[in-house]
Amino acid sequence: MDVNYNQPAAEPETLLREALEANGQRFTEQRSAVYRYLRQTEDHPSADDVFTSVRGVIPDISLATVYKSLETLVSCGLASKLTYGDGSARYDGRTDPHPHARCLTCGSVADLPGVLDGESLDRLGELPGFSIEGYRVEVVGTCRECQEG
Ligand code: ZN
Ligand code: MN
Repeated sequence: MDVNYNQPAAEPETLLREALEANGQRFTEQRSAVYRYLRQTEDHPSADDVFTSVRGVIPDISLATVYKSLETLVSCGLASKLTYGDGSARYDGRTDPHPHARCLTCGSVADLPGVLDGESLDRLGELPGFSIEGYRVEVVGTCRECQEG
């Protein structure tokens, strides 16, 4: 794969304005607050988690607005959405492919430090007729807090 997955280096707010405009979306303080929060956390928060945090900055924001802002950011390529079999979702301020570690006890999600290189991906083999565009890798286990719990 030769896609360039590097994170853009521009100021987060400039990046947000440009990406929203390019997708026909307006820049709003709500979207900006949600984006800023996602960019600075490593917690892969749920929409509820984002709501709880962003309410500290914009007290009258609603959960529905937070949810819609998150979906807008995902559709504009500014965030990723991690979905799970039980229908729950978490959001990630990173959009480059990177592996996650998910705790089977508490559901927390953390980034693993490395990435899979082309050679590792090649080792997975080819599926005839299937065109690969990216990958999702998740290791599952028990986080430190749950082990100490
Ligand atoms: Zn845990
Ligand atoms: Mn991540």
